[in-house]
Amino acid sequence: MARIALGLRPNAPLNPWAYANHLNVIVLELAKLGLPDKAMRQLTAVDGESWSAMTIQNDDRFAIVINSSHALTRQRSNLMHELAHVELRHVPARVEVSDTGLLLLSDFSDEQEQEADWLGAAILLPRDGLAQLRASRTPATEIATYYGVSESLCGWRLRMTGVDVQMRRAYPR
Ligand SMILES: [Zn+2]
Repeated sequence: MARIALGLRPNAPLNPWAYANHLNVIVLELAKLGLPDKAMRQLTAVDGESWSAMTIQNDDRFAIVINSSHALTRQRSNLMHELAHVELRHVPARVEVSDTGLLLLSDFSDEQEQEADWLGAAILLPRDGLAQLRASRTPATEIATYYGVSESLCGWRLRMTGVDVQMRRAYPR
């Protein structure tokens, strides 16, 4: 579905920024928000590992702020994760409201987090694409590079989809 909407081949790599654009979600870079230096240092250096992305809602428009100090592979999966929350219309347990009325969505349930992880990874790494690449004996590291994701996410997805189990059955050593 996502790839059809973007005019991509069924198993082509998908650019999450293009997908966000298709969903009418604005993606903001932390560095371009014009935050004071001290706040930037706090968010990128001191607490740089502690947050990945946040979703802001203004009426029915969504914006996602990405932690741009993370590796691009991680930014891609973080962005897809947030987009999955939007697509799945998850309503968080808690919403923080800024002085200007922006809503910061936080405190999704564990179940919602898992759903967002699953859907985000499923869109980034389509099962048929993985199966095709595995059938032609492409190593997981190359598959990860092809789809622009980390090796650990690629490995997780190969396990979750059962592709590797299926390949071992189809091509026993
Ligand atoms: Zn989440």
